[in-house]
Amino acid sequence: MSTRENPEKVVIFGSGPSGWTAAIYASRADLEPIVYEGLQPGGQLTITTDVDNYPGFPDGVMGPDMMEQFKAQAVRFGTRAVYASVENVDLSEWPYRYVTDQGEGWAQTLIIATGASARYLGLPNEIRLQGYGVSACATCDGFFYRDQVVVVVGGGDSACEEATFLTKFASKVYMIVRRDEFRASKIMQHRVEKNDKVEVLWNTETVDVLGKDAVEGVRLKNNKSGEQFDLACTGFFLAIGHVPNSQPFTDWLETDSDGYLITAPDSTATQVDGVFAAGDVQDHVYRQAVTAAGSGCMAALEAERWLTHKEHAS
Ligand code: NDP
Repeated sequence: MSTRENPEKVVIFGSGPSGWTAAIYASRADLEPIVYEGLQPGGQLTITTDVDNYPGFPDGVMGPDMMEQFKAQAVRFGTRAVYASVENVDLSEWPYRYVTDQGEGWAQTLIIATGASARYLGLPNEIRLQGYGVSACATCDGFFYRDQVVVVVGGGDSACEEATFLTKFASKVYMIVRRDEFRASKIMQHRVEKNDKVEVLWNTETVDVLGKDAVEGVRLKNNKSGEQFDLACTGFFLAIGHVPNSQPFTDWLETDSDGYLITAPDSTATQVDGVFAAGDVQDHVYRQAVTAAGSGCMAALEAERWLTHKEHAS
């Protein structure tokens, strides 16, 4: 671990496309970055299957494989990768102190690339039955629901995509949508509408997930009539958006009302000198692997320039 007297030049939190791209650029600039990989090494792409929209892969690529390649490229240029998660930082004085679940360290610049995680409804039984029928990743877990009845909560593009995907396995997919219309794009809506296996329950909210050791059903409520009813199912899939993983930094850095870190226009700079944010933790608009990688590159270039400027100024 580094010390206050001998801080790291560049510390990167997060190992999705933005974190590894920042590491590739920083290591090629001889800044010897260290990447703390976080709770989900590789980030959200490790829970997807085919990635068809990342340039350079005309036949598509599996998300986890792509992240392995990003990592290998960063390590090839001297990036140190550590399986640890950032817990908090102290940005009151420079160099900045940070704490991970493996200990503390000091850094001259920080690149925050901690991404975002699936949002849950927050129902007690939903948390208890996670991994026992409750899932936020149809592409990871859909395979286990062959010929079974499943429920997907949400009305956005993710929900439509997941519901359509689940029909490959499930006998029936109910979509639970809290309004009387989808948020999803027309093309995704059409895919759902023309799929006989999908039934949409409009104006419906989840009251509870039912089941002792595994999901056996769900208690629903029609929010127009107030009527409650139970639906038997073995899978309960959440697709209600994501929350940015900005919690370790919110004592020091500004966020918007949804918790996304705020960066300067056309930049990854936060309000604190030498601290940069890239990828889904600061991007609530695009949230693509390629845009995350692009902002990771920006963060590394900005960190490099910041260090050079600091060196000349002192
Ligand atoms: P969105 O924010 O677009 O949609 C979230 C959905 O969940 C909405 O229907 C919302 O309802 C609903 N929801 C949110 N909170 C709750 C709650 N507490 N209870 C019940 N329902 C809730 O998120 P997505 O993850 O679907 O999409 C994120 C971004 O990624 C979008 O820009 C999307 O276009 C993009 N995307 C694109 C894909 C593609 O093109 N292939 C695939 C997947 C995502 P309400 O509308 O009432 O707020």
